[in-house]
Amino acid sequence: MNTGSCLCGEIQFKVSATPQKVSHCHCFMCQKQHGAAFATYARFKRVDITYLSGIESLRTYRSSAEVERKFCMLCGSNIEWAMPAIMSDCVAIALASLDDQSFVGEIKVLHRQSSAQWLDASCVIEDD
Ligand SMILES: [Zn+2]
Ligand SMILES: [Zn+2]
Repeated sequence: MNTGSCLCGEIQFKVSATPQKVSHCHCFMCQKQHGAAFATYARFKRVDITYLSGIESLRTYRSSAEVERKFCMLCGSNIEWAMPAIMSDCVAIALASLDDQSFVGEIKVLHRQSSAQWLDASCVIEDD
């Protein structure tokens, strides 16, 4: 059992299984939606996700004919990525919305060819 939420806490959910896989998606749409170099999603069976509160604040953006992206209308946190017409039994959940991420092992990489130009820039830690 795992739990998750959006940033403001309006949307709460629980997850009754470990994910089928975890992926970094470097596609342009994930970069835009997340405002980040890539989006990291954990894929679950739809039946393993139960919303506990705030489902009325979940909004859907259809980013292409098949893809639905769901987010909190109050705080903007991305929650779901799904293709209901093609894989109605699966849903990808934004990994960092989950409270326990200790299950993460191997991470698949998707759409690496469109990755951000600065992805491999050297980093300098400034916050400690
Ligand atoms: Zn929220
Ligand atoms: Zn993507």
